[in-house]
Order: sequence, then structure tokens, then C-alpha cells
Amino acid sequence: MTILILEWSNPLNKSCAIHFSCVSQLFIFCSVMLHLSQDVEALRGELCRKDEECREQERRLAALEQQVQERTGVIVQLQQQLEEAAQRRQELQLLRDGEETLSRQAALPLQVKYVTKTVEVESAQSKQALIEAQAHNQALQEQLSVQRQLLRELEQQLHESQRSSSQLRQQILVYEGEMERAQGQLEAEMQSLEEEKNRVIEEAFIRAESEMKAVHENLAGVRMNLLTLQPALRTLTCDYNCLKRQVQDFPYMLEKAITEAKQEICQVIGEVSSANQELLRKYKREMNLRKKCHNELVRLKGNIRVLCRVRPVCAGETDAADTKNKVTFDPDDDAVLYLSNKGKLMTFELDKVFPTQATQEEVFQEVQSLVTSCIDGFNVCIFAYGQTGSGKTYTMEGVPEDPGINQRALRLLFSEVSEKKPDWDYKITVSMVEIYNETLRNLLGDNPSEKLDIKMCPDGSGQLYVPGLTEFTVESVEDINKVFDLGHMNRATACTNLNEHSSRSHALLIVTVAGFNSSTGHRTSGKLNLVDLAGSERITKSGAEGSRLREAQCINKSLSALGDVINALRSKHSHVPFRNSRLTYLLQDSLSGDSKTLMMVQVSPLESNVSESVCSLKFAQRVRSVEIGPSSSSRRQAESSSTSSSPTHDGVEVQRHKHTHPQRLGLFRRKNQSNLRDVGYSLLSNMK
Ligand code: ADP
Ligand code: MG
Repeated sequence: MTILILEWSNPLNKSCAIHFSCVSQLFIFCSVMLHLSQDVEALRGELCRKDEECREQERRLAALEQQVQERTGVIVQLQQQLEEAAQRRQELQLLRDGEETLSRQAALPLQVKYVTKTVEVESAQSKQALIEAQAHNQALQEQLSVQRQLLRELEQQLHESQRSSSQLRQQILVYEGEMERAQGQLEAEMQSLEEEKNRVIEEAFIRAESEMKAVHENLAGVRMNLLTLQPALRTLTCDYNCLKRQVQDFPYMLEKAITEAKQEICQVIGEVSSANQELLRKYKREMNLRKKCHNELVRLKGNIRVLCRVRPVCAGETDAADTKNKVTFDPDDDAVLYLSNKGKLMTFELDKVFPTQATQEEVFQEVQSLVTSCIDGFNVCIFAYGQTGSGKTYTMEGVPEDPGINQRALRLLFSEVSEKKPDWDYKITVSMVEIYNETLRNLLGDNPSEKLDIKMCPDGSGQLYVPGLTEFTVESVEDINKVFDLGHMNRATACTNLNEHSSRSHALLIVTVAGFNSSTGHRTSGKLNLVDLAGSERITKSGAEGSRLREAQCINKSLSALGDVINALRSKHSHVPFRNSRLTYLLQDSLSGDSKTLMMVQVSPLESNVSESVCSLKFAQRVRSVEIGPSSSSRRQAESSSTSSSPTHDGVEVQRHKHTHPQRLGLFRRKNQSNLRDVGYSLLSNMK
């Protein structure tokens, strides 16, 4: 602890000494002293100013005295002149007196004779003397008048001098008075300043004393604290020493800990990397398993799945009142559909039936496993089949506020591939083509009316490709919408009546999903073909001619070819007639091998459409039944391809629906060959 001792002497010659026990108290004292010294400084400044004023007054006084001395000199001169003038006056007086004496002597008569004699004796001399005296007198008189004049002037000057002298004296008196007053004031001010200074110093001293007292008190408190703090300080010192030792040891400990940590980290990294390897291995195994399971699932479901969707009655449809009972559903089995045709109730069994109220989302949920399988490298075809107005385009494209399979499939692909990042990198490309009258058109190209060809890849892989087909890479919903808009626009520009044209042509959205796994080096490539087929309705023989007939023939040909291909594939025929139509030729690689096909048969609920609905459903049923059993299936299919008005026939076992009612299964026994002639049903004859 430092004790500071401050000593000084104040103007009262008091010697002071203050002991400061702590620096803060010293600071307080210093600030007080500083304040005081500032006051003293101000007072000193004031004093100097007053001294200066005093000196100024003295200077003025000296100047005035100088003036007075000068004036006094002038007065002395004037007095000398005055004395001279008085002397001359005296002389003049003497002359006058002489003259008077002369004139008096001249006036005496008795004396004249005597005088005359005398005068005669003396006359020449007297005359001369007289003349001289007169001349002298004249000169003296002139001199006298000059002297008088001079005297008057001198008197005047004297008066003026006396006046100015008295004025100066008065002024001197005034100045002296002022000086005295100023001096008095100055002295009084100096006195008061001195008093003020002494007072301030006194006060400061008192304040300092009281502060010192407080400081002393504080010091006592601090001392007390110090006494109590000393043990704490000792422990702290002890702790500090201990810590110091630890700090000295710390680098060694740290080094040791770092080395250990490094070893541990290396070990953990090794473990993690081996765990990663294991996980990767498991992941690959799981992926393969998943693929297998998926394949198995699809195989169990059948590589061709046939679904049916019945569209609702739209507002304004004329026979809406009659539609209620035409198409009905089985509340216990979502794979069965009843159709009332000419008083007979026909039963159709498919993989799944979507009732009128089924939403786009529900429909999509049923097809989404197929969509995702193309990420794993499978080729998939989804067809919408049915007569015009049955809802094919609604199911595939949908409406902007409720999109169909096309857009939902792409959205799903986006989300699935983004989940697989960063291991897998996928590229999704889309093309849109139209097949009209067996002609292929590029809907995303610059020239949509240009005809495209399908060619075999020159690399000998047996793969087909379409030279000049435009492909767009899509990464977002916005991209999809742009592509769809372009496709629609091109489709509309290539025809006069879009509605009619679209019902007479097949529209294909071809999505290619190419994946690359950077960690394994695996590559996959899957193709998803989403096909909105041309209307399957039969053309009445009488009404079909010219271009309409050609259109009908082309549609008939392609739909029949589709049926033939499916049949050949399912029956494992050595020859599959892909080349019979552009549609099957184009989709060759997506229909063969382990590809998956889904046929969405669209049905209209209207009574006026019942016969077309029957045709569509028969087609659906037969396509579906192709896959049931390998060699013996064809017989069973032929047997089951029948319609009945009565649900009372004996059952023929159908593999997928072992659990279903024998009565229902028996419905397919009776044949109705009349429809085989219809468009798209040549399949039936192929299967027989
Ligand atoms: P297609 O393409 O088979 O000729 P569309 O898809 O054009 O038939 O459908 C015909 C009409 O029926 C359209 O007005 C469509 O909006 C409507 N439609 C079809 N299916 C549905 C459905 N599931 N829900 C509501 N409206 C539907
Ligand atoms: Mg359509």
C-alpha cells in the first residue's frame, strides 16, 4: 500500500501536509486543488489587468504633468515679457514726466526773458536739443504706442495664458481626482481580490482538511478490509501458485491430450469409415433387395396391370338422368364393375376400379410405384384407353387446378431423385410426340408438322431411336409446365380442330430418367411412356369414308397392334409384332423385357356410351387375363372372355381372385364374339 504525502504553503503562509492513503483520495484532492489554482489564476489575471489600468492612469498623469510644465514655461516667459513691458512703461513715464517738466518750464513767463536770453544763448542748442528731444520724444511716443500695443497684446496673451493655465489646473485637478479615485478603486479591488483569494484558499484548505478526514476514515475502513482480506489473499496466492504450476504443466498435458485425442479420432475415423463401408454394402444390398422386392411386387401384381376409371356425369349431359344405374360398383370389392346393358347386368373384373368420385390423387397413388420404378432403370408404359369423352385426357393431363398422371409423375420423380442426392445424380428429360395416321410428329420441335422416323441404333444394341426428336431437360414444375404448354401449342397449330384431332391421335409423353451413382459408379436408365391413346370408339360403317375412314383404320391398326404385342409378350411368343404399328414400334423397348405396363381403361357412365363401355371393358379384361398362367392361361382367358346377364354360373378359377365369389368368376364363360370385329379387339382373336 502506498501513502502519499503532499506538502504546500498557501498565501496565508500556512504550511500544509496531507497524507493520502489511497490514490482515489489523492485524485479528489488534486481536483480540488486544481479548481483552486484555477480560481487563483483568474484572480491573478484580474490583478494584472488592474495593474495595467493603473499604469495607464500614471502614464496619462505624467503626460498631464508634462503639459503643466510646458504651460508653466510659457507663463514664465510671459511674466518676463510683462516685466520688460513694465520697465518700458516706467521709462515712458519718465519721458512723460520730462516732457511735462519741459512744458511747465516753457509756460513760466518771467523766466522767459531770462530764459530768452538764456534761450537766445542757448536757443540753438536748446532748439537743437528741443528738436532732438522732440524727435526723441516722437520716437519715444511711437515706441510707446508700439510698446502699448505690444503691452496690450501681451496682456491679452497673459489673460489667455492665465485662462488656459487655470483650465489646465482645473483639468489637472480633475485628472488628479480621477487618478485618486482610480487608485482608490484599484486598491479596493486589490484588497477585495486578496481577500477573495485568501478566502478561497481558506475554504479549499478547510475542504481539503474535511476530505482528508474522510480519507482517513476510509483508510481506516480499508485497513479493516485489508485485515479481513489478507487471509483471502493468502488463499488466493496459494491458489494462484497452484494454478501457475498447473499452467506450467499445461502444455505438456495438452500435448499429451492432443496426442491421445488424435489417436482416438484416428481410431474413430477408422471405425466410422469401416462402418460406412459396411453401411454402403448394406445399402447396396438393400437397394438390390428393394429392386427385387419391387420387381416381385410388380410381378405379383402382373407386368400388365389393368385399371378402370369411370368418369362422373358432367353437368349438361343430356341423358344424365338415366346414368345412375348404368355403371355400378361392388362396395366390398374395388376390382369389380357392373354394367347394365340392354337389361343385362354385366360384371367385369379388373385389377382395380376407380369409381366416379375417385380423385386424381387416388388414381396417381395406384400408379406411383410404377413411376418410381423407372428411377431404378425400368421401362414403364401407362396407357389411357377408352372412347372419346371417357376421360383419358383428364386422367393423363388433368386440369391446371388438379393435374393428372403426367404432371404428378414428373413431380414425384423430382422429389424421389432429390432424396437420393448426393449419392445419385439424375437427369430427367422429356419428349412429346404424337402419332396421327401412323405418322410420328415431334411436338416439342420447331416444326411440329415434320414427320419423324424410328430407326435402329447403329451400335448394334438393338435399341431404337428417333432422329430429330427434341428432348428437354426438366428440373422443376415450371419446366414441366413450359414443356406441356409448348407441346399443346404445337399440337394445336398442326391441326384445324384440336379436340377432334386429339381424339384421333395418340399423344405420348416420354420421360427418360438417367442416373449415376458417383460412389459406386453405377448407371441406370429408365423410360416412362405416358400415352393418351386415340378414341377407341367404333366407326359406323356407313359414316366412315375419306379421311375419317383412314383415321379410323389407322387407329384400329395401332390399337389392334398394341393388343397383339401385349398378347405375344404375355404368351412368350418368339415373335412379337412390334413393327405392325408406329405406336408399338416406338414403344418396343418399353413393352418388352422386364418392362411394366399399366392400362387405364376409361369408361363413360352415360347410357348412350354403354355399348362402347362394354367394348372397352372387354378389351381391358382380356388384356389383363393374358398374364394369368403361362401356357394354360390362353385357354382360360378364352373361356373367361364372356359376358353374362346372370351372376349364377359356376366358377372358373382365376389365379388373382381365388378369394372372389365363384358366381362372379363364372361370368366370363359365355362368349360373345360379336365384339371381336371392333376396333382394338383383334387381340381377342389373337388369343384364341
Ligand atoms: P377423352 O380424352 O377421353 O376424350 P376427356 O378427358 O376430354 O376425355 O374428358 C371428357 C370430359 O369429361 C372433359 O370435360 C373432362 O373434364 C370430363 N372428365 C373426364 N373425367 C373426369 C373426372 N374424373 N372428373 C371430372 N371430370 C371429368
Ligand atoms: Mg382426349
